[in-house]
Amino acid sequence: MENCIFCKIVAGEIPSPRWYEDDKMIVIRDIEPKAKLHYLCIPKQHFALLSEMDEARAEIVKHLFQTIPTLEKTLGLEGGYRVIINQGEDGGQTVPHLHIHLLGGEKLGEF
Ligand code: AMP
Ligand code: ZN
Repeated sequence: MENCIFCKIVAGEIPSPRWYEDDKMIVIRDIEPKAKLHYLCIPKQHFALLSEMDEARAEIVKHLFQTIPTLEKTLGLEGGYRVIINQGEDGGQTVPHLHIHLLGGEKLGEF
């Protein structure tokens, strides 16, 4: 997808250290962390919104959610973490490439 910042990161056109990578996803640190540890889990395949879900995309999202708990130690999130998916304008989504935020590394305040 042209002009998508996360597609550019996935393609390596914008450098960003990868804390995890497999054939379907990468995990990077958020450039403007909202907690002591703030990661973004980004599917390699571009789609913007949960409302664009189909079987193939659901498999990718399933893979993300199956993989996240296996990374708790690697990412320093053993104490727990918050999982957020911002959707659309009202949800505060600023990058239209579906991604999962992981926030932790400290006791988070009330939502
Ligand atoms: P959202 O607002 O849910 O769409 O989340 C987009 C997130 O991407 C924000 O928290 C940004 O700080 C983050 N972000 C934008 N550009 C980059 C980048 N080049 N590297 C890492 N994180 C980024
Ligand atoms: Zn994209």
